[in-house]
Amino acid sequence: MRIGVVTDIHSNLPALEAALADMGPVDALWCLGDLVGYGPWPNEVIGVLRERRAHCIAGNHDLGSIDAVNTEEFSPDAGLATRWTSAQLSSASRTFLESLTPITEVDGVTLAHGTPCEPVWEYLLGADSAAASFSCFSTRLCLVGHTHIPSLFVEQGDDGIAVGYMEGGRSYECGTLRCIANPGSVGQPRDRDPRAAYLVLDTDGPTLEWRRVPYDIAVVQEEMRRVGLPVFLRERLALGV
Ligand code: ZN
Repeated sequence: MRIGVVTDIHSNLPALEAALADMGPVDALWCLGDLVGYGPWPNEVIGVLRERRAHCIAGNHDLGSIDAVNTEEFSPDAGLATRWTSAQLSSASRTFLESLTPITEVDGVTLAHGTPCEPVWEYLLGADSAAASFSCFSTRLCLVGHTHIPSLFVEQGDDGIAVGYMEGGRSYECGTLRCIANPGSVGQPRDRDPRAAYLVLDTDGPTLEWRRVPYDIAVVQEEMRRVGLPVFLRERLALGV
C-alpha cells in the first residue's frame, strides 16, 4: 500500500492542496494532528480531509480549539489563533475534531501527534526522548508530528538510536528495524525550508519518502492579514521557522 502522510497542516489550505496534488494517487491518507490552529482556513482544511476520508488523529491545537485541553501552555500568538479558530469552527468541524484521539493504530502502524508516550504535548527531538518513545508502542513503525521538523529515529539494537534530519527527497527503508518518522509540517515548516512537507509510506519495506512542495505563501499571508491573525504567524511562513 502507498499511503500519503500529512501532519501539522494548521489551517493552511493552499499548502495542503499542493501536498495532495504532488503526492498523486494514494491508497490511503493519514493525518497526524494539528489540522487547525495558526492559519486562516480551519473548516476548509477539515472539509478536504473528510472528503478524502483521511484517517486523522488530534493534535494539541485541535484539542485546544475545542476546549478539550488547557491552552495556557500556548505562546500568546498560538493562544490567540486558537481562540480565533474556536470561534470559526462550524458545528460539523467541531464534531469531527471531537471524534479524534491523539494516538491510534492503523494497519499495524502507530500514529501519535507528539510522542507515543505523551501524544498531546511531548516533542520528539533527540535520542533520549526517542529511547523512551520506543518503549511506548508495540508496532514496528510509529509516525509522529508536532515538532514541524522532518526527522527519523531508528532503533539499532546495541548500536543505540540513529537520529536524522530528513530533507526533501530523502528516503529510508526500515526493513526489520523499528522506526519513528516525522513527515515535517504541511502548513508551517520550522526547518528553514518554507515548502510544505509530507511523507509517502510504502508499506512494502516499509519505505519512507520525505517530500517538499512549494505553494503560494503570499496568498496565505494575505488571508491571515485580512482576518487579523498575528503578524509573526504570517511572517514565519516565508522563513520556515
Ligand atoms: Zn503543530
